[in-house]
Amino acid sequence: MSRFDGRVAIVTGAASGIGKEIALRIAAEGGIPVIADLNLEAANAAATEIKAHGRDAFAVAMNVTDEEQVDKGVAEVIAKFGKIDILVSNAGIQIVKPLVDFPYADWKKLLSIHLDGAFLTTRACIKHMYAANYGRVVYMGSVHSKEASKLKAPYVTAKHGLVGLAKVLAKEGAEHHVTANVVCPGFVRTPLVDKQIPEQAHELGITEEQVIKTVMLKDTVDGEFTTVDDVADAVLFFAASKNNALTGQSMVVSHGWFMQ
Ligand code: NAD
Repeated sequence: MSRFDGRVAIVTGAASGIGKEIALRIAAEGGIPVIADLNLEAANAAATEIKAHGRDAFAVAMNVTDEEQVDKGVAEVIAKFGKIDILVSNAGIQIVKPLVDFPYADWKKLLSIHLDGAFLTTRACIKHMYAANYGRVVYMGSVHSKEASKLKAPYVTAKHGLVGLAKVLAKEGAEHHVTANVVCPGFVRTPLVDKQIPEQAHELGITEEQVIKTVMLKDTVDGEFTTVDDVADAVLFFAASKNNALTGQSMVVSHGWFMQ
């Protein structure tokens, strides 16, 4: 028997990068990933890719900052599968600029996707998890849930905030056997990071290679990027946990960039 046989898992932002790998891996272990993404075309493509491997998957259009869309997307999943066992709240963006002239609109946009998105998807899913007396919620944090970097004020703020949300859900969800944990990756080469390399080079007045070596991987133990596979391992570990003891925790997967 596979770890996720028959488990229904909503993964937000799963049309790309880390979320897509998590969806592929859950499907490979017998689960049914729901690819919930702003980009429906890419979400459908990811679902088709999974189905081509003989596995089940479902795509839903979901802007995680839109209360109505989140509730509607979750209702669609319930109508189709009758339950939600796992939520991986992963959708996210990055905007790098110095704090001194960070545009307010960008600040609010970033906080909204990371924090409002996590709140809205959590609220919509835990209603069904509480009714089923079972649930596993995993938030996509970051080393920036623990550490700060220049140019990333709203991102660092949001990622720290997710740790707080997970701790509250760990307490409120306990009587319903719903656990909540956070995975905190170091830098992973996804479109989110590839976009940031030239932006940081421009802001800091250094080359792209210097951004990788002297900013992104400087404090790792081996100068290596974390991979989507490394992150998926940690997410699946929390999502598959059979016990309710493992809750309210955050796990850092970063080649030792941050050690707790
Ligand atoms: P990515 O850009 O490859 O994928 C992000 C996905 O989120 C995209 O499919 C995008 O369409 C979706 N998305 C964006 N806004 C959305 C919204 N409002 N509603 C629904 N979907 C939306 O990025 P990634 O690197 O895979 O990042 C995924 C998560 O991992 C993010 O939360 C990010 O902060 C976190 N993270 C990434 C890294 C890294 O180095 N890549 C490190 C630590 C944490």
